[in-house]
Amino acid sequence: MGSVGAKDVPVLLSPEGLRVDGRRVNELRPIKITAGALKHADGSAFVEWGQNKVMAAVYGPREVHPRHLQQNTKAVIQCKYNMAAFSVDERKRPGLDRRSQEISKVIAEAFESVVFAEEFPRTSIDIYIEVLQANAGTRCAGLVAASVALADAGIPMADLLPAVAVGKAGGAIILDLKKEEDNFGEADLPMALVPQSGRLVLLQMEGHMTRDELATALDLGVQGCRGIYEVMKQALRDRYSVAPAAEAGA
Ligand code: ADP
Repeated sequence: MGSVGAKDVPVLLSPEGLRVDGRRVNELRPIKITAGALKHADGSAFVEWGQNKVMAAVYGPREVHPRHLQQNTKAVIQCKYNMAAFSVDERKRPGLDRRSQEISKVIAEAFESVVFAEEFPRTSIDIYIEVLQANAGTRCAGLVAASVALADAGIPMADLLPAVAVGKAGGAIILDLKKEEDNFGEADLPMALVPQSGRLVLLQMEGHMTRDELATALDLGVQGCRGIYEVMKQALRDRYSVAPAAEAGA
């Protein structure tokens, strides 16, 4: 498709029903998750999802900083989402901006509904998400990475939190938007699911769609989350399964 400039609107859906990168409307981008990617964190995960590359590190339960956030009955969950200055093609201004603060907040709130925080009063569970390369859907990739990192750190949780953005582009309801679809499409709707209960713990929408389209999008998103859930569980199995004793030549 070539480069996409502001005036250069791409064809978001071909007459054959294919998207800018050749995917069908209900197809995810390729996703690879590595649990335990960092040595010094209590838990970590690296997610490569389409052209997104996102690292998450988890510390805790540990002492609360700043101290005034400490809660007597449960752990406080703190999240810091950051986009590296080199993560996007237009140079991003480094440091905390409103978007990063908002994403950090919604991710921390999503985890409050699955982490058993009451088991660790007066402590903090700290989640760091670093976006190294961004191509839309980074809050979802961040949630997925943080979820696997929390499990890797041994933090007790009701469930993992798979997440994906659904939306509308070229008139169609589509799963897992990439940058061109996010920029030039009609709607973007990131969501996170608790698979075992079916509850949604993050749901945001930009753009426009009808109620029927929203219902279709939610179903598509739940289906997408269930696919990602399998990849998340496999990443944890790969990390913790004991390699069978060397058989060949033993
Ligand atoms: P998400 O990454 O969760 O989809 P947004 O919808 O806010 O969040 O952003 C969509 C995409 O736009 C990002 O994934 C990234 O590729 C790009 N983007 C976001 N913020 C910036 C920025 N400050 N500079 C350049 N590109 C950005």
